[in-house]
Amino acid sequence: MVARVIPVEPFDLVVFGATGDLARRKILPSLWRRFADGQMPPEGRIIGAARSRLSTEAFRALVAEALNEQPAATTAERAAIGPFLERLDYVTLDAGDATGWQMLGEQMREGVVHAHYFSVAPALFPALAAGLDQHGLNRPDTRVVIEKPFGHNQASAQALNAMLARHFDESQIYRIDHYLGKETVQNLMAVRFANILFEPLWNARFVDHVQITVAETVGVNGRGEYYDAAGAMRDMVQNHMMQLLCLIAMEPPYRFDSDAVRDEKLKVIRALDPVQPEDIVRGQYRAGGGGAGFADEVGNPGSTTESYIALKVGISNWRWRGTPFYLRTGKRLRARASEIAVTFRDPPHSIFGEDAPWRANVLVIRLQPDEGMTLRVMIKEPGPGGMRLKDVALDMSFAEALGGELPIPDAYERLIMDVIRGNQTLFMRGDEVEAAWAWTDPVIAGWEARGERPHPYDPGATGPEDALMLMHRDGRRWREIR
Ligand code: NAP
Repeated sequence: MVARVIPVEPFDLVVFGATGDLARRKILPSLWRRFADGQMPPEGRIIGAARSRLSTEAFRALVAEALNEQPAATTAERAAIGPFLERLDYVTLDAGDATGWQMLGEQMREGVVHAHYFSVAPALFPALAAGLDQHGLNRPDTRVVIEKPFGHNQASAQALNAMLARHFDESQIYRIDHYLGKETVQNLMAVRFANILFEPLWNARFVDHVQITVAETVGVNGRGEYYDAAGAMRDMVQNHMMQLLCLIAMEPPYRFDSDAVRDEKLKVIRALDPVQPEDIVRGQYRAGGGGAGFADEVGNPGSTTESYIALKVGISNWRWRGTPFYLRTGKRLRARASEIAVTFRDPPHSIFGEDAPWRANVLVIRLQPDEGMTLRVMIKEPGPGGMRLKDVALDMSFAEALGGELPIPDAYERLIMDVIRGNQTLFMRGDEVEAAWAWTDPVIAGWEARGERPHPYDPGATGPEDALMLMHRDGRRWREIR
């Protein structure tokens, strides 16, 4: 199989916050890999901008160090480091004052795509947006990329959107949810809408329930202050898990086009039922396994923030009324595993007798690790001993199915190239973000009003015991986290 790499148009991409963690770990390595692959054209240019006083050479040295730390680079990628670094420039710029803006303006070329990546704290977004305007850097086709958190509730998300709207048209704004850039997540749309097989079954008549799991083994990883203020609901459910739920539940868009897809996702969010208090379990990891507990890690002994959440939600529309969606995510769990499992209903009648062993068909879409899909089906157990049934997995690892020839790219690689291509399909629109908060806010307000504390759980476990009950009382079980 030959990969088809179509270079994007020449561009000037400004990375504000180019010396920061996200730029060094994700943005610049992703651009380098796209450069090595021939997708970033030689005329593409990246201008790093931050307050640190660095020469272009010093910035390139910093980026070289970051690239050399990247795991599993191919020989071609290593060879591309030198030529890639030549595509980098640096401007010392303080978002908060006039320093550097004129210099940045002088660096920007005519006749190429202009994109500005705000890889800085959200508090700096207004200053950057105003700076672009004031210094003549906001052309009608200029694109701006922003990172979550998109507010911490509906009101702040509305304020952020209103601020952005004062400077940019919605078609200029690229809100990154990196989950949408994952290959498997996009595959979800291919599986649903490029095959006739699943669509007739994709509704409450045939789907018993859906489980969405994002389990992490890590703790808060030095982001204690942010995470203690956010918690799993704001950090994961409101955005990443909501997006996964939307892609599973949405109606077929009339075409694979940014507004058509986002319109359908928005309808799902608006149709989500309010979550009942008895349908939420929050957890917080204790100390154990040589690690500190959550509260110590975030430096707040009285913290009531959840590092784990499990909840059940229904969707009030014709397709999904009667099929619950169970979502769970947490830190310091047994394994790092993200998956969506669609469990189908039992057949209406067993011709093999009431005693025949029975397992429901399950379609599992694995996001990580080992991206792929599994369909569990019933077959006859081989052998002459009669008609004995057995459930087996039709298993497909994407890496294996694609012959190992096409390495699965990091989500950021895809998303940054989409920014340059001007394709917003995999980015969140402002109204989607606000609708997601409109659903999230009352859930959080509910547990705050009730003064509930999260249930403690052991690191390395699968979450608090009560989360098991959430499923058991409905006669269902969580899938194993392994
Ligand atoms: P970070 O490591 O703290 O980096 C912040 C960057 O902003 C640095 O390059 C800093 O450089 C620059 N900066 C600070 N004040 C500035 C100013 N006044 N003018 C210009 N530049 C300034 O933060 P980060 O982790 O990279 O996160 C960046 C953004 O991505 C944040 O919005 C964060 O919420 C979001 N995000 C990050 C991650 C992640 O994995 N890191 C994940 C999701 C979302 P100087 O000090 O040299 O100015």
